[in-house]
Amino acid sequence: MHYTNIRRGTFIDRPNRFIAHINIKGSAETVHVKNTGRCAELLVPGAVVYVQESDKPDRKTKWDLIAVKKGSRMVNMDSQIPNHLVKEWLEEGNLFKDITRIRPEYTYGSSRFDLYVEADGKKIFIEVKGVTLEEDGVVRFPDAPSDRAVKHVEELKLAVKEGYEAYVFFVVQMKDVRYFTPNMDTHPAFGEALMDAARAGVHILSYDCDVRKDDIHIADEVPVVFDQFDQRADNAACADEAVKRSDSDLADVVEPVIAWYREHKRDLPWRREADAYRVWVSEIMLQQTRVEAVKPYYERFLRELPTVKKLAEAQEDMLLKLWEGLGYYNRVRNMQKAAQQIMADYNGEFPNTYEEIRLLKGIGNYTAGAISAFAYGIPKPAVDGNVLRVISRITGSREDIGKQSVRKKIEELLEPVIPRDAAGDFNQGLIELGALVCVPNGEPKCGECPAAGFCAAREQGAAAEIPVKSKGKARRIEDRTVFLFRDGRKLAIRKRPSKGLLAGLYEFPGVSGHLSLSEAAAYSKKIGLMPVRIKALGEAKHIFSHIEWHMVGYEILVDELERTNEKGFLFISPEEIEKEYPIPSAYESYTRYAGIRE
Ligand code: SF4
Repeated sequence: MHYTNIRRGTFIDRPNRFIAHINIKGSAETVHVKNTGRCAELLVPGAVVYVQESDKPDRKTKWDLIAVKKGSRMVNMDSQIPNHLVKEWLEEGNLFKDITRIRPEYTYGSSRFDLYVEADGKKIFIEVKGVTLEEDGVVRFPDAPSDRAVKHVEELKLAVKEGYEAYVFFVVQMKDVRYFTPNMDTHPAFGEALMDAARAGVHILSYDCDVRKDDIHIADEVPVVFDQFDQRADNAACADEAVKRSDSDLADVVEPVIAWYREHKRDLPWRREADAYRVWVSEIMLQQTRVEAVKPYYERFLRELPTVKKLAEAQEDMLLKLWEGLGYYNRVRNMQKAAQQIMADYNGEFPNTYEEIRLLKGIGNYTAGAISAFAYGIPKPAVDGNVLRVISRITGSREDIGKQSVRKKIEELLEPVIPRDAAGDFNQGLIELGALVCVPNGEPKCGECPAAGFCAAREQGAAAEIPVKSKGKARRIEDRTVFLFRDGRKLAIRKRPSKGLLAGLYEFPGVSGHLSLSEAAAYSKKIGLMPVRIKALGEAKHIFSHIEWHMVGYEILVDELERTNEKGFLFISPEEIEKEYPIPSAYESYTRYAGIRE
């Protein structure tokens, strides 16, 4: 695709999403920005940009912003171009052999997909997304939440059910990137929808582009990598960072690890009767917290919901109450969706192949491997943090275990050596070894280790330096003030929104920022609650995966809770809260003042 009338300029500012001010030959011009995304990392003052001069005299602004230089990289910012590029590229004979029809903007049900294609005897929908967000060679979409994008992806999934072939095609509007991944920071729902769609058979493609100031063409395929919910990684993208095989042959450690495990394994409730449902419940819980902390949760969960059917039919509040304190509540919601899938597709019988298990909602490579191996003896790897550490040390690998490519490589190293007659014991042996001997904090107990004779890290005296794990992105800090409004008998709580962080759980009311005692009193009055006594409850911190809450709390005794003009408050006794209303552990420091979970 070639542009004419291109001029060079420098970015000044962007008063709103649709226009920018650009310095062109010493004059500040108003320029139309077709890409209404945030593009905050691209449009920085002084950035070199390229604009197209329109030949239509009746336009309000005669310039369109086409491309921007980000360091040495040229990024095309024309949001209207990706659809044209894909159409042009298909017409050149790419992707499909024999195209008989190609139509842009095609209405299907309540959706409008970017392209409809008939080719090779198939009917095909393609939804095209332009990608401009790049960091360290990783490109992500969307750069701001996009419910529309989620809707499109979900509708493609339905189209597949009805016999169409469907694609989400990410056009990366720059060259030489490492891989594409959905932006879980900005819009996790999109990432999850995309993953779901991939499972349902929607093809997810990503291609980069050769970009010049006046030209853009689709170039090479870019690996699509899902995040930890997916755990798929592309070898080619990160081949240079992949784990190197050490001289140690992993096959040598198999027998010693199995023998050690059979002798030293802990007696844990989920190991006594290791059917698929029990393994699944315990594994999801173990991803949240320590073994000792999981035991009472596991037993209570199994008592209340002993079967897939019961889980599929459970009320949400009950489910969340059973999970209260474990965190990552989406995991238990996903478990329920998976249970419903099992009811619908497998008549309530847990599927018994790795591939079918892997397709269940919320189940990634690790959990699918664990259920397959522990419950059915299928020789598939189950690589968790313990296994990453143990194998990195045995092989002496200094590759970053935070990378999906490294996890994938370790899975590939392990899979061929897992014995068919002891897959569960070998996998659990590696995990147990990591938990009890080759420990994460403090010195590994090499003297007790069955793999000591084969371990490169031990031989090199490098166990303290391995595994290597790079620091993740810094978390966002959010200051909050939490209120325990109470009268003689009851406390005010409210339900959180049905989407987002801690969705659907109950919380103590709160506001952003840290209020002083007098500001807290003023806020109480503002919402109609006359304070009789205020007590500062001190500071507390709760760490989520991407966010940290830094809280201050106040207990405010009021004459009558019902007087508040604030909507959505519920007035509930501590006993009832304890029984019926899931309060997340983020509030743990304040629940004892409320008389719950003391
Ligand atoms: S020998 Fe030491 S470092 Fe190596 S796997 Fe065993 S405990 Fe870990």
